[in-house]
Amino acid sequence: MNKRLIIANWKMHGDLAMAGGFAAALGQVNTVEVVVMPPMAYLQGMAEAAAGQVALGCQDISPFAEGAYTGDVSAGMAYEVGARWALVGHSERRVVHSESDQDVAAKCEAAVEAGLSPIVCVGETQQQRDAGLAVETISDQLASIWRLLLQAPAAGIAYEPVWAIGSGQVASLEDVAVMHRSIREQMRAYDARMLEKVRVIYGGSVKPNNVGELFTDDAVEGVLVGGASLDPESFRAIIDVAAEQAAAEKE
Ligand code: PEP
Repeated sequence: MNKRLIIANWKMHGDLAMAGGFAAALGQVNTVEVVVMPPMAYLQGMAEAAAGQVALGCQDISPFAEGAYTGDVSAGMAYEVGARWALVGHSERRVVHSESDQDVAAKCEAAVEAGLSPIVCVGETQQQRDAGLAVETISDQLASIWRLLLQAPAAGIAYEPVWAIGSGQVASLEDVAVMHRSIREQMRAYDARMLEKVRVIYGGSVKPNNVGELFTDDAVEGVLVGGASLDPESFRAIIDVAAEQAAAEKE
């Protein structure tokens, strides 16, 4: 089984002091891979304070390498100040900034070209799920990114049902497992090398008290955590559950 990947997505929360002290508050991390994604403004400060203790990533990047794109930050710039991972296609970007699957693919390509490992977020709305279109929606969202993931240093796909993000309503283990297996089947069909390279992780109201159940299924190769990643104690508790389960699986 791939090493579990635990990602903190702070969204537009936190401040310089929080970014500076977070890695120290988190402590040492071994058996799982941890990535923290603070707001872009705090990335460099956090990279200096964390000194390699946790890997860092950005929550979004420009699809362009450079040019007259006011307000954008390129993947190369994010890399230069410490990012090694980049989230693309988070549902808040897709909804609030009207990003299409094509935009997400362009961002994914920009990330890979700059040496960043992309985490591509996909997810269905409640309406799509109710209409029986969940699997089809996710396949459509992934169609143009497979070739890019093969070229990436490392990569992840975050299955985040839109209705589960920030709502306190975590998807059932059965629904998560069905979707993760479907994504892994699509990977196998495209190129089986991806099964070892691309981790399929879940996001949507993950908390210390529900992450253990998610990790009972080995199709869940990690989690993307929003709200519960803002407090180092609750994020650490999630890491500890993942590490304990990884250790138990080894025995
Ligand atoms: C997210 O930010 O992608 C997320 C899943 O948020 P939350 O954990 O707060 O639902």
